[in-house]
Amino acid sequence: MLSQAKYRTSGEQNFCDDVPISINTTGYFYDQESAAQLIRHVRWNGGLYCPRCRSLAIKKINSFFVNEIFQCNACQYNFNCTSGTLFHGSKLRLDTHLALAVAIDSLIGHVRINEIGRLLGVSPRTAKLQLAKLGTVPPAHRYLHGSDQALADIGNYGTILELFEAKSFSIQISAFQLRLANWLGVGKAHDASARGALLSIA
Ligand SMILES: [Zn+2]
Repeated sequence: MLSQAKYRTSGEQNFCDDVPISINTTGYFYDQESAAQLIRHVRWNGGLYCPRCRSLAIKKINSFFVNEIFQCNACQYNFNCTSGTLFHGSKLRLDTHLALAVAIDSLIGHVRINEIGRLLGVSPRTAKLQLAKLGTVPPAHRYLHGSDQALADIGNYGTILELFEAKSFSIQISAFQLRLANWLGVGKAHDASARGALLSIA
């Protein structure tokens, strides 16, 4: 039975971007297009650039929304929004990737990685691989809020989305985007904003 109980914010300030996780508020975990859109927004906010040679001379060579492919005019490299990131080359859907990363960030320490894999519908091997890629550095800001009871009841849920919805977990969108930027390598060698916001899409 779905509960409309208020979600807990653990005494932290209740920011206006702290919203319950649901398909209506955060499609990132339910829908590949939303996930891809968010990744593109966070990664290329400062302008689209080639992940291999940093050129800003880029053209789009297909218009599939989820897997939009670009080509660099300078080095001819074909790339999409996950190229060169820890999400690169995976067969997992992008929305599953985001949910898995959030679950690992938030639930590891409470439950075993195999249980997190089960909730996401991925193999223990995939979950462990993702854990290794994400590393064990905790997020700078706790962006997922939920009750201790929800964590205690994990074994009763079939999927991570069921858990999020039933216990009215909430997510602070701005802090989550910062965490995503960290996963995508934005702000390291990949910082495009310093190169201006030139955008060259044919
Ligand atoms: Zn290039």
